[in-house]
Amino acid sequence: MFDLKLIQNYYSKLNNKMLAVKHKVNRPLTLSEKILYTHLDSEIQNYSRGKDYVDFKPDRVAMQDATAQMALLQFIMANKSKVSVPTTVHADHLIQAKLGSKYDLKNALDINSEVYDFLSSVSNKYGIGFWKPGAGIIHQVILENYAFPGGMMIGTDSHTVNAGGLGMIAIGVGGADAVDVMVGMPWELKFPKLIGVELKGNISGWVSAKDVILKLAGILTVKGGTGSIVEYFGDGAEKLSCTGKGTICNMGAEIGATTSIFSYDDSMERYLAMTGREEVVSAASQIKHHLKADQEVFDNPSEYFDEVITIDLDELEPYINGPFTPDKATPISKMSNECKENNWPRKVDVSLIGSCTNSSYEDISRAASIAQQAVDKKLKAKSEYTITPGSEQIRSTIDRDGYIDIFNKIGASVFSNACGPCIGQWSREGAEDNKKNTIVHSFNRNFSKRADGNPNTHAFVASPEIVTALALSGDLTFNPLADYLINENGKQVKLDPPSGLELPSDGFSVDDLGYQKPADNGDEIEVVINHKSNRLQYLEPFKPWNNKNITDLKLLIKARGKCTTDHISMAGPWLQYRGHLDNISNNLLIGATNDFNGKVNYIKNCITNEYDETSKVARYYKNNNIDSIVIGDENYGEGSSREHAAMEPRYMGVRVVLVKSFARIHETNLKKQGILALTFKNKDDYLKIKEDDSFNIINMENFNVESKIMLEIVRNNDVVDTIELSHTYNENQIDWFKAGSSLNLIAQNISNE
Ligand code: SF4
Repeated sequence: MFDLKLIQNYYSKLNNKMLAVKHKVNRPLTLSEKILYTHLDSEIQNYSRGKDYVDFKPDRVAMQDATAQMALLQFIMANKSKVSVPTTVHADHLIQAKLGSKYDLKNALDINSEVYDFLSSVSNKYGIGFWKPGAGIIHQVILENYAFPGGMMIGTDSHTVNAGGLGMIAIGVGGADAVDVMVGMPWELKFPKLIGVELKGNISGWVSAKDVILKLAGILTVKGGTGSIVEYFGDGAEKLSCTGKGTICNMGAEIGATTSIFSYDDSMERYLAMTGREEVVSAASQIKHHLKADQEVFDNPSEYFDEVITIDLDELEPYINGPFTPDKATPISKMSNECKENNWPRKVDVSLIGSCTNSSYEDISRAASIAQQAVDKKLKAKSEYTITPGSEQIRSTIDRDGYIDIFNKIGASVFSNACGPCIGQWSREGAEDNKKNTIVHSFNRNFSKRADGNPNTHAFVASPEIVTALALSGDLTFNPLADYLINENGKQVKLDPPSGLELPSDGFSVDDLGYQKPADNGDEIEVVINHKSNRLQYLEPFKPWNNKNITDLKLLIKARGKCTTDHISMAGPWLQYRGHLDNISNNLLIGATNDFNGKVNYIKNCITNEYDETSKVARYYKNNNIDSIVIGDENYGEGSSREHAAMEPRYMGVRVVLVKSFARIHETNLKKQGILALTFKNKDDYLKIKEDDSFNIINMENFNVESKIMLEIVRNNDVVDTIELSHTYNENQIDWFKAGSSLNLIAQNISNE
């Protein structure tokens, strides 16, 4: 098993750590707070939830293959011989689902070989565990092998939060954050608020753990959890399986929660033991009381959580959420009306189960019990039906136990153990016709175009057992709790509620997990990058600062209004260039609006006086060694933390980003890449910037935390105005700036050692 020493070491120190925390904080604590406070990389004090930025030291890092590329290219720049914390890479996102697992996997190995060769070699060299294509989906593999109660991890994928099902604080982050932790820097997070969700009663019949989160998504909406950890408690929570808890935590990302978590309990013990981690169970049993909230919290939750929600599981119905958003929650008994009123296509074309959200043994066995009834009651699936196992361990076990045979009897296709249709890697025949149609799946997200690229595909989210029932009826309005189906003999039949096993009675079975252990000493291992590659490219260190004022900057763009990280570095087809900074820089700021003409991706080249696409002008400046500045509006760089949004401008010669205000994470990302991130002291000075101006940043000599940096606006060769700017650099960040980037500084420190 993995990480045993790390876990035993952490548990052995937990008593003393908790004593120190209790001594300082001096009040009962929720489980989330216990884990956060015992992973501080700052001094212990009573932090303000939702306000204070705090440094943490996570136990591990996980990355999926799409996001790992740039993170690892950056890691290489730090010149370290090994990652500072246990880290894994998972080859799951790049496999397209088309004809079934065997063909699809072979095809992915051909198409993505250069990326896989890179990830495999770089992992091998730097002490990173590599889960090969076909091994499984990152979050399922983490739950089966690495997650542990009371631990803390970050992962470069939103659904990293899945590990909360095993009592871990697990948070989805951008690649820059992963790089920080891999190189041994602290990781910063705004201390989250806390939402307590009390689960009462017991689920039964057609209701599953999935319905808890589908209902909660309806209550909290896609934004309701933002900046908060959702902590579940109550007798109903204890009765859920560990993997059911994982499903609930997984979809916490759909309500915007920082993460979600359950207390350590018997279900987690059973799961750990069944996945070969009895030693974790015996270590955890010594400190069990630290792996749940203090009793006072359970006695009086509203005093300790910022918000408390109660869900009575005895009264819960199965839900079907969608289309186009996971928070449009409809109890199954109301679906018929809703479908009619909204004119949703009633016919279900494809039903898909599995993904990282819902492919546990329990999920599959319950769905298979419905499929078996179909066989027994002479029913056939009326829609296409697909299964995406979450890991090779699951696939192999459900195969051994005959479930795949049962699914095959109703005409199922089994896709690779990978993301596939869940992330748009689905070569769905006819999707390009953009026909209005309905699909139902047990995945987590159902935004427009996510599964098959067709904006008219109405995707609905439900539990695997409900999805299977809908596959048999082919009708979105079918309610298996009340309605009958007509079988091959023309007889009316009713489906019984699903039944299944929480865990396999004969244990899990797998021949080859698909894991590549890294070399003990990677010094001699070469990282494989094809120099002709369009998808991968080594990074060059950015130039250090020359300790002088930054003068004669040309205006790249004065962006008006919203400018998110997606406007700065677009996603979509550009994602294929994630590992190639030069190629992906061709999307620089192409979503930003030019304040001077209100147009997107249309700016003036101050040298040629011609208008062109933003990245083309940036490329012109870069090729002619012209430094530039970007001016922005309020909350510049909001959205997901995307390191490319900071690396691309730096690469294209942007020296300064000056805005009315920053989204904090992006501001830090710019600082890490060696761009001077500044704000207007007086926001109205934004209006003084004209299209043909040049700029000097002065008072930069002896740059320090107190520096009063000024901007000279130069028009027709004269300084026409000098305005005061603000900065938020601390001493460490000033050192990043001086070195050219945070990674340059780390590399310098290592070579000085
Ligand atoms: S299965 Fe879907 S949600 Fe899970 S990691 Fe893959 S793309 Fe993300």
